[in-house]
Amino acid sequence: MTTQPLLSVHNLTKHFPASGGGAVKAVDGVSFDVAPGETLALVGESGCGKTTTGRMLLRLAEPTGGEVHFDGINLLGLGRRALRQRRRQMQIVFQDPYSSLSPRLRVEDIIAEPLDVHGLCPTPAARRQRVVELLRLVGLDATHLRRHPFEFSGGQRQRIAIARALAPQPRLIVADEPVSALDVSIQSQVVNLMQDLQARFGIAYVFISHDLAVVRHIAHRVAVMYLGRLVELAETDALFTAPHHPYTQALLSAAPVPDPERRRSRIVLQGDVPNPANVPAGCHFHTRCPIAQALCRETVPPLREVHPGHSAACHLAAPFPIPTR
Ligand code: SF4
Repeated sequence: MTTQPLLSVHNLTKHFPASGGGAVKAVDGVSFDVAPGETLALVGESGCGKTTTGRMLLRLAEPTGGEVHFDGINLLGLGRRALRQRRRQMQIVFQDPYSSLSPRLRVEDIIAEPLDVHGLCPTPAARRQRVVELLRLVGLDATHLRRHPFEFSGGQRQRIAIARALAPQPRLIVADEPVSALDVSIQSQVVNLMQDLQARFGIAYVFISHDLAVVRHIAHRVAVMYLGRLVELAETDALFTAPHHPYTQALLSAAPVPDPERRRSRIVLQGDVPNPANVPAGCHFHTRCPIAQALCRETVPPLREVHPGHSAACHLAAPFPIPTR
């Protein structure tokens, strides 16, 4: 990456006390950068730590270790007031548009909430004008101002949530499974809207998803998580065509492909994801890895560069070419 990162995450950690003693390592030393205007996808199975990571970027969950630099400033060292000022430039869109919008508020007040919090509109007329502008940006209009969330479809509600996130002109949006609660037919409309807004305003996204087809469509780079750690990080095409980590290879082999001629041989992982309160020593993946060696049970594989811009945390990392679409 040649440009100065907008977001730079170093060794981010979230450990919870476990009920039987010890710690649940929900996020365990995650590091990555996001450039201005870039979409970095965080992918992995449920419970891998991707949502907790996303929430820690905005300090909606407090990290137990590490650093989150936004525009060169470590957010973890900021007091409440300074953090609130920074948060104007960092917004979040949640998965569920049914629960993330207050049912009692009208659309105008939902979208204007960040404008009010940050004192961005000096008069009621300016506030109304800005909300109408935001509605139009997401494909809605002024006739929706006085309605309540229950009067909208799931896709329209997510558009309202995106309008609210856009209101303070953020430079980064953390989107946590933003389309997975929507009908498949609506998902691409919302993803295309997010891409259009990125092209127009240069917003960076941290796009959290378990849906690899959506990730392939929207992300510039992809970070794969397993049991709280990053196991692979690469540009999207490189990751999808030549994944190096056995876990990524298994994930991709299980994803549906549109063309049956290009169907991959499925790698079936043995066993379940281990309990995060009792993670395996060495490589966390060794209990399910089809090529694990003795070394893997003892030594943590560092995330190391296997090609320029492509890193994998595996002692035996090797390309696993997958046919392109
Ligand atoms: Fe598999 Fe060993 Fe690589 Fe872990 S380090 S993914 S166990 S080969």
